[in-house]
Amino acid sequence: MQVGCRSKFTETGCGVRSSWIHPRGGRTPLDPKGRPASNVGIVLERSQRLGIFEPMAGTGTSELKVRYSYRLRLSRASERKLMAEWDRCRFVWNQCVTRSKELREAGEQCGPARLDKELTALRSEKPWLKEGSSVAQQQTIRDFGAARSKAVKDVMNKAPMTRRRGFPRFKKKDLALPSINYTRRGFSLKGGRLHLAGGIELGVVWSRELPSAPTSVRISRDSCGKWWASFVTKTRADPLPQLNRAIGVDWGVKEIATTTDEAFDLPHPNHGKTGAAKLAKYQRMMARRKRPKGVPKSNRYKKAQLQTANAYAKVARKRKDDTRKWAKNVIYNHDQIAVEDFKPKFLAISTMARRAADGGIGQAKRELIWMAVKHGRDLRVVDPRYTTKDCCQCGARAKHALPLSERTYTCSACGSVRPRDRNSAAVMVARAGFNPTGVDRVRLDHPTGDQAA
Ligand SMILES: [Zn+2]
Repeated sequence: MQVGCRSKFTETGCGVRSSWIHPRGGRTPLDPKGRPASNVGIVLERSQRLGIFEPMAGTGTSELKVRYSYRLRLSRASERKLMAEWDRCRFVWNQCVTRSKELREAGEQCGPARLDKELTALRSEKPWLKEGSSVAQQQTIRDFGAARSKAVKDVMNKAPMTRRRGFPRFKKKDLALPSINYTRRGFSLKGGRLHLAGGIELGVVWSRELPSAPTSVRISRDSCGKWWASFVTKTRADPLPQLNRAIGVDWGVKEIATTTDEAFDLPHPNHGKTGAAKLAKYQRMMARRKRPKGVPKSNRYKKAQLQTANAYAKVARKRKDDTRKWAKNVIYNHDQIAVEDFKPKFLAISTMARRAADGGIGQAKRELIWMAVKHGRDLRVVDPRYTTKDCCQCGARAKHALPLSERTYTCSACGSVRPRDRNSAAVMVARAGFNPTGVDRVRLDHPTGDQAA
């Protein structure tokens, strides 16, 4: 099973850094990729963030390493070829799992170099393995090496059990989703078609242009049965004009984001709730059609499984579309953004877990950060401690925490009265070190009720 990297953001004074984000964050086979659909029916992935959001050292330019993903339209023949290639890579991966276990027990070193050598021997032994591309198989070993060394590192660092990456496991035929990586010498683009090592030619739906020549491509199939090509490429940040406007963002469950400016709040979309009935219907279908353990899945079961995956994917696409549009609006209208460093896990164990998960706070935060990096905005992540207790006007801290039911913040020191979340959002701006007057200034383009003629 594919195990995606978790996104992780750390605060670094100004600007943001992030670790690599794998486009597929899910662990369950039915977890969708959630890509937005365009109105022409071509599902495409608009600026799937992938970011090592760091300026390239020494160049002085803000070059970003990004992933651009495109749908693939496959013929029966090329799909068959790809699946055969995947089966060979899966064999190599499983071989790595077995060998690394054996070597570890024997107390020997087991690195990618050694596994590479063994692959060469295996390929001369097994003609069917040699039929496949060596680039893809060697890359499988490198992926395995990376996964394993992370697991070893977590053990060495005594990371908490819940946060440890487990040792790589077998990829089962029915469970593992196909995913093959090709480095620069394993693929080429000719006449708008993607040529892979081993004589596989694929038609790509070029929904937008690649910003520069790609350095690698990952071919994968998602749980909805769609094939994707995800290129790693470089692009430049696209700075927007200076506005001297600041905004503070406070995450919540009732409203996903409450900002210092009412016009930029993100209400809870309830997409999951809307799609729940349909999802339950397909899940019931799956339960009815389920066969006993050891008996192959029926075709009708597989159909219901696909419908379930599609229902999930639809909700995820809607959520992503909403948050992305909101993030774009915020970033285009402000150049200083103070964001609460919210940990969605805190809500995941509360009574509001379902509603919180449906809101997609984590995703909104990611989209906002990526959009800020892309457009060179100053985004700062703020520690959320005491933001509900502090007064945004005079900075006094209340003695007692407000109960969650109390929605208005009244300062005992200066007497200012504000909605609770909006006070927190304003505290974020002050803590980030932005000019609070940039928040309260009257926006000429959005007249309020009293000012409008
Ligand atoms: Zn006050």
